[in-house]
Amino acid sequence: MRYVIIGGDAAGMSAAMQITRNKSENDEVITLERGNIYSYGQCGLPYVVSGTVESTEAVIARSIDFFREKAGIDARVFHEVTNVDVQNQIVSGTILDNGESFQVHYDRLLIATGVKPKKPEWEGNELDGIFTLKTIPDTENIMHYLRTTEASQATIIGGGFIGLELAENLIERGLHVRIIQRGSQLMNPLDEDMANLLLEEAKNHNIEVIFDESVEAFEGEGAVSAVRTDQGTYQTDIAFVNVGITPNTGFLPSSLHKGDRHEIITNSYMETNIANIYAAGDCATQYHLIKQKNDLVPLGTHANKQGMVAGLNMSGTRMPFPGIVGASILKFCGLDIGRTGISEKEARELGFDCTSVTKTSNPVANYYDETNWIKIKLIYENSTKRLLGGQVIGTKGVDKRLDVISTCLYQGLLTTDLLLLDLSYAPPFNSVWDPLQQTAKKTL
Ligand SMILES: Cc1cc2nc3c(=O)[nH]c(=O)nc-3n(C[C@H](O)[C@H](O)[C@H](O)COP(=O)(O)OP(=O)(O)OC[C@H]3O[C@@H](n4cnc5c(N)ncnc54)[C@H](O)[C@@H]3O)c2cc1C
Repeated sequence: MRYVIIGGDAAGMSAAMQITRNKSENDEVITLERGNIYSYGQCGLPYVVSGTVESTEAVIARSIDFFREKAGIDARVFHEVTNVDVQNQIVSGTILDNGESFQVHYDRLLIATGVKPKKPEWEGNELDGIFTLKTIPDTENIMHYLRTTEASQATIIGGGFIGLELAENLIERGLHVRIIQRGSQLMNPLDEDMANLLLEEAKNHNIEVIFDESVEAFEGEGAVSAVRTDQGTYQTDIAFVNVGITPNTGFLPSSLHKGDRHEIITNSYMETNIANIYAAGDCATQYHLIKQKNDLVPLGTHANKQGMVAGLNMSGTRMPFPGIVGASILKFCGLDIGRTGISEKEARELGFDCTSVTKTSNPVANYYDETNWIKIKLIYENSTKRLLGGQVIGTKGVDKRLDVISTCLYQGLLTTDLLLLDLSYAPPFNSVWDPLQQTAKKTL
C-alpha cells in the first residue's frame, strides 16, 4: 500500500506520523511538499518579528531528517503537485529546484495543502515592502526588510488575528503602527461590545486604528511609501496585508467537491467524495457543532487533529472527527482575548432565539490580588438555556475560562450546568464563585 500526502505541515505530518504507527512493514508513506521546511508552527511567526521568539528555526517542530531517518517517511522537498488524476490514482507536478516533472502513483491520498493569504488586486501591489505573513520565508523577508530599511512606520491592513498579533510585535520592535480596517470594529468574530476593549487597548499602546475605510492602492517609487484608501492617504515604510485566506485547492480536479470558499468537503472520516482521497486541515471543512454545518475555521488546533484522524482512517482504524466549536485565543498587548461557539451577532443571523449576559469580575479572590480583571459574555438559547457561545477578555485566567466554555459547548451543556459545575477553587485562582459561574448566575 502506498500512502501519498500533499503538504508537509500540521495536517500532513500528523497524518503521516499516524500512518507510520499503523501501517504494515512493506507499506510506503511519501510526503510531497513544495517548500523545503517541514512541520513548523506558523503560530509562532509573529513573535519572531519582535524577537520574543529568537529565530524562525525555533518554530520548526521536527526536521526533515527526523521524518526520513527516524520515521521512515519518504519526505520530499520542492515537490509541487499540480494535478491529481483520480482515474489512474496518480499525482503529478514539478520539482521546483530543477524544473523536472514527477509522477507518483497512490493507493490512498491525503490533501493537506493549507491556505494562502488573499492579496487583492490593488494598484501598486508590486512595490517592495508589502507583505503577507504565512510562512518562514515570509518572516525572513519581513525581518530583512525591517533591518535594511530601518522602517519606523507600519500599516497593517485588516484588524483580525494576524493583524493584531503583528501590531503587538511591531510596537515591541519600536515601530509606529496603524491598522486600517474596512468595518467598524477590530476582530470581527467578537461582538462589538467585547471588541471595543481591544480598541481601548490599541489606543493605550499608541496603535492608530482607522475604521470604515477601504484600501484602494499602494503608492511609492520602487518601494511602498503610502497606502491610499477611499478616504485618505497614509504615509508608511512597510505594509502588511491580512484580509483573509483562500484554500490551496486550485490544482485539484473539478470532480472533487468543494465549498463556497474552495475548501474541500469531507465527511467526519476526512473522506472526500472521491474514493481513496482524503483531506484535512486548513484546506478542508470543519463541521461546526453549534452551527450544525460545515465551516472553514483554519486553525492549527484543528489541522493537527484532523490530520491524525485522517491518518488513522487511511490506515485502517475507523475513527470520526466529531467537529469543532470554534475556540480561539489571542494575546494583544496586555489583554488575552478568547471566543468560542458563535457570537451573539452570528446566533441572531442563524435564527437562534437567544440572550446574552455579560459580567466583569476579578479572575482571583479580591483580597488576594485586586489588579486583574476578566470580562465574560455568554450567549444562550432562550427555550433550553443551552450555551451557544462565549467571549472572554481580560488580564489573567482567560484561557482557563474559555476552555471550560468550549467543553460545555462540545457537550451541549446548559447555563445551569455551568453554574453548578465542579470547578476548582482557591484564592490565587478564582473566587468561590468562579467568574464563569458569576456570569452564568445572571441567566437564572
Ligand atoms: C501568522 C500565523 C499565526 C497563527 N496562529 C495560530 C494560533 O495561534 N493558533 C492556531 O490554532 N492556529 C494559528 N495559525 C493557523 C495554523 O498555522 C494553521 O491552521 C496550520 O498551519 C494549518 O496546517 P495545515 O497543515 O492545514 O496547512 P499549512 O500549515 O498551510 O501546510 C500546508 C502545506 O502544504 C504545502 N502545499 C500547498 N500546496 C501544495 C502543492 N500544490 N504541492 C505541494 N505542497 C503544497 C505548503 O507549502 C504547506 O507547507 C496561525 C497561522 C499564521 C499564518
